[in-house]
Amino acid sequence: MFNDVEEVVFSETQIQERIKNLCEEIAAAYEKKSLLLVGILKGCLFFMADLMRSLNIPLAIDFISISSYGSSTEKTGAVKILKDLDTPIQDKHVLIVEDIVDTGLTLGYLLRNLRERAPASLQVCSLLDKPDCRIVQVPVNFKGFELGKKFVVGYGLDYQGKYRHLPFIASLKKEICPF
Ligand code: 5GP
Repeated sequence: MFNDVEEVVFSETQIQERIKNLCEEIAAAYEKKSLLLVGILKGCLFFMADLMRSLNIPLAIDFISISSYGSSTEKTGAVKILKDLDTPIQDKHVLIVEDIVDTGLTLGYLLRNLRERAPASLQVCSLLDKPDCRIVQVPVNFKGFELGKKFVVGYGLDYQGKYRHLPFIASLKKEICPF
């Protein structure tokens, strides 16, 4: 499995250190508020777990699972909810926890959908952000790392269902992943 990796882009240590700093930013922003973390399955898996364990403020969690129509190279922006939130978010301070923002289409849809449910506030925390790939502008209020036009896997991110369990974030060899 590790033989498929071309290059480690962010190591385990880098990720954990960045998450600690991110948590300080988030804790300061939500100091007197009761926070609801909404994780986007499945990519948020490790990020959500590490983030919530380092956040020293009262919080609750929920998850939403979505799938975009079209492949990762042909994005349409049409999104289907596979599993909705378990609880209403009206009057709650919601922080979306996302693995990566690329075109912004998925997040754009989700923000519109969740805004209609009248949360007290709605912000976004993404581990990775690819600003050069944007098609629609979306706010990323808290971000781990910026990335160029690169396709990465690991730490929750997959390629064709694989590589999510890698403890670091990496690019794959061209013969495995051509983009
Ligand atoms: P967007 O709608 O912003 O284009 O795409 C967001 C989703 O596309 C992410 O949640 C993720 O599932 C997928 N995605 C975008 N870029 C990458 C990448 O570099 N690696 C992986 N594994 N998935 C990505």
